[in-house]
Amino acid sequence: MPENKTILVTGGSGLVGKAIQTVVQSEEQQGEKWIFLSSKDADLCDYEATKSIFEKHKPTHVIHLAAMVGGLFHNMSHNLDFLRKNLHMNDNVLQVSFETGVKKVVSCLSTCIFPDKTAYPIDETMVHNGPPHSSNFGYSYAKRMIDVMNQAYCDQQGCIFTSVIPCNVFGPHDNYNPDSSHVIPGLIKKLFDVMQQNGETFTVMGTGKPLRQFIYSFDLAKLIVWVLRDYNEVDPIILSVDEESEVSIKQLAEELAKAFGFKGQIIFDSSKADGQYKKTASNSKLRRYLPDFQFTPFSQAIQESVDWYKENHTIARN
Ligand code: NAP
Ligand code: GDP
Repeated sequence: MPENKTILVTGGSGLVGKAIQTVVQSEEQQGEKWIFLSSKDADLCDYEATKSIFEKHKPTHVIHLAAMVGGLFHNMSHNLDFLRKNLHMNDNVLQVSFETGVKKVVSCLSTCIFPDKTAYPIDETMVHNGPPHSSNFGYSYAKRMIDVMNQAYCDQQGCIFTSVIPCNVFGPHDNYNPDSSHVIPGLIKKLFDVMQQNGETFTVMGTGKPLRQFIYSFDLAKLIVWVLRDYNEVDPIILSVDEESEVSIKQLAEELAKAFGFKGQIIFDSSKADGQYKKTASNSKLRRYLPDFQFTPFSQAIQESVDWYKENHTIARN
């Protein structure tokens, strides 16, 4: 008989949380009860609210996704909020998990928290090797502290609290608000609006030269569920597409134009920030565990994400 688990997913209403819901609903796993939380269930910046939601659901396992999340431009203008909110949420979730006897916690870091000046490809051993890019230092230091806390909870209390390091994520239920979105949802909404108005130019911020690895939310969801069930290290693991799958922002814009059937001109506004030029991460550790994992082809994942937005733009986070 499999062990009975109650798995609490913080941030269960977001991009990654919704994808995990879809993945676990599509399979039959005995002995797992899944609970997906949103900020309406509890403000995890508040210790008492965090304690009370954990006492209500009594999780044995936690996937901690809840965070203040945003793209380059939102980070640049809100470093203090990213730092404080994420520090509070992470401290509350990990401490309450410890106090209530949770057996395992999987938290989320990001490839954008690595040192700005670094050798490439980046790997899991380099998280703390130097200052992050100045554009998102608040988010980065808060996220890095999760790894520090995980090591400390292990050393002092023997806890198995670990973390995953995804690259840039996209898919259905993303945040499309131009003030706070990441590049893919930001450009999907922008191009959708251009198409609605029969516009002929699609303006992309920055030079188009920066390189990024993008992972489809459903691929990431499968990998996070695997980490919860089968990955037993405290040290983090990078969950990214292969290095060869890295694309420029220009290639991304062209892929989106293809998915929308846009025939006009793509313009790059180089007066806007580029952010970090690249953050190329190695997924060798992941590949040692799961050599045969198949990522969804980028064009297919972009097409599905565009189609989802076209069908759901009235209910999407705009
Ligand atoms: P998202 O779509 O913005 O969702 C954020 C989630 O956190 C939502 O469920 C939100 O609840 C919840 N939340 C925010 N503030 C909260 C609070 N004070 N109390 C309780 N819940 C709160 O984010 P995501 O893209 O799914 O990101 C999930 C995780 O992956 C995050 O830890 C993020 O740092 C990490 N990550 C994301 C990316 C990316 O490209 N998106 C890349 C690398 C790592 P509401 O729905 O109620 O607001
Ligand atoms: P990052 O990967 O953490 O830097 O975050 P983003 O997902 O916000 O990607 C930022 C990159 O996309 C930068 O090179 C931006 O110049 C570029 N970019 C182009 N258009 C947009 C847009 O509409 N929104 C955002 N967030 N970035 C854009």
